[in-house]
Order: sequence, then C-alpha cells, then structure tokens
Amino acid sequence: MIKSKWSYLALFIFIPVMYGCNSTHVSTLPTYNPRKPQPVVVPYGVRKELDQFKIRPWKYIVIHHTASDSGDAASIDRYHKEKKGWVNGLGYDFLIGNGNGSRDGQIEVGNRWNKQIDGAHAGNPEYNKHGIGICLVGNFDNDQPTNQQISSLLYLINYLQKRCNIHKDNVIMHKTFRKTVCPGKHFPYDKLLAQLK
Ligand SMILES: [Zn+2]
Repeated sequence: MIKSKWSYLALFIFIPVMYGCNSTHVSTLPTYNPRKPQPVVVPYGVRKELDQFKIRPWKYIVIHHTASDSGDAASIDRYHKEKKGWVNGLGYDFLIGNGNGSRDGQIEVGNRWNKQIDGAHAGNPEYNKHGIGICLVGNFDNDQPTNQQISSLLYLINYLQKRCNIHKDNVIMHKTFRKTVCPGKHFPYDKLLAQLK
C-alpha cells in the first residue's frame, strides 16, 4: 500500500513538469487583422538606403511570399547564391520579415535595389527588368501576413509609387502574370489595393 501511494505522488509531480517542458516549444504565427492597423516604424538607415541614389525607370511593383515560415535577407541571399547560383544573390529588391528570422514588419533593402540592377524574382524578363520585387516572409497559402507586414508593405508601396511614379494598376502579384500560387491564396490583395492611391 505504502509503495503505491508513493507512485501516485510521483505521478502528480512528474506529469505537470513534463507538460510544462513541452509547452515552451509551441509557437504560433500572428495573423493579419485588418481592423487593427499598426504604426510603421521605418528606421533612419532604411530611409537613407531608399533615398540615396538615382533610380531606374521602374514600371511595376511585384509582390511575392517566401513560401517558408521563416527567413531574412541574409539567409535568402545565401540560398540564391549557393543553391540557385545567382552571383547577385537575393533576387528581390526588398524583404519584409514576419518575426521569424528578422523582426515582424522589418523592411530589409536588397543589393539589387541598392545597385539598381535587374531582379531575379519574376521568372519573366519584362518583370525582372522593370518590376520592383517585394517579398514577404511567410507562406500565405497556409497563413495570412501579419499586421506589421501589411503596414510595412503599404508604407513601402506608397513610397515606391511616389518615387518611381507607378500607378496602382501596376502593383501586382507574382501570380498576376505567371503560373504560380505566389503570394498565396490568403494574401489580402484586394484589401491592399483598396488602400492605395
Ligand atoms: Zn513569387
């Protein structure tokens, strides 16, 4: 009898400890809630990078997703150099983080924008040459972009529309011109367009 009482006591102690350990590894991605617009904080360094040079005559803004849960400019740059063999690395002009890799809503400025050279994001020469590629980290076939990602995207598109004189009809998704799901079926394109001028 005494032995089995001790066994029960051991169960009471160990079960909560086991579950406590497991629950610390559970994480969920924040989801896009259009009713809660978030303020965008664009660091001075990013503004400086955006403003610093003469730009090419861009015609389009092309929106992508990474189709991955995490990533940042450095890791995708490495992937594009090493796996795709692209000497200029990161195929997009801009990357917007989701908190898994870079900060949620963080705008990273790519080398191709800084050098004003062709992109490698469209799979189509016209849109690589004349389209500014913005990629959001995430897989929007499964999730939605975060509020911060959408706020940063709006900020960046507004900026680029003014700077490069791009009409909102030319703010398009990758799947607008190519057979791909990119940027995913949950990307809120119509809501985004409704907020552009
Ligand atoms: Zn794409």
